[in-house]
Amino acid sequence: MDTVDRERRHAVMARVRTSGTEPELRVRSIVRSLGIAYRLNVKKLPGKPDIAFPRLKKAILVHGCFWHQHPGCPAAKRPSTNIEFWNAKLDENIARDIRKYENLGAQGWSHLIIWECQIKDEARLLTIITDFLSK
Ligand SMILES: [Zn+2]
Repeated sequence: MDTVDRERRHAVMARVRTSGTEPELRVRSIVRSLGIAYRLNVKKLPGKPDIAFPRLKKAILVHGCFWHQHPGCPAAKRPSTNIEFWNAKLDENIARDIRKYENLGAQGWSHLIIWECQIKDEARLLTIITDFLSK
């Protein structure tokens, strides 16, 4: 196993473990500032969306770029070791996400995915969220 790859993966995992929530918290604080009623981790909805707006039937999913394989994102680059393991695991995540979106849609909910790498630009994030909620 090559060292760079291993270290990179550890860094990714550490970020996922400790935060998982940090990008979510950033998104939540923006949503809170909009003054629209929302609920967190609604269990009865497919995939327990991170943030749900029951009256609007809209959900926001905050996704880590690696685990959810953000298309075209450098952070989604697959490890070059244990290739079969990672391909199976990540493909499974993608398939699960797709089912989740379909199930939400089937219940009349629309969704917005916010990728971890989009969190940095708060002004843009605000625009994305406002657009989604006002549609
Ligand atoms: Zn990304």
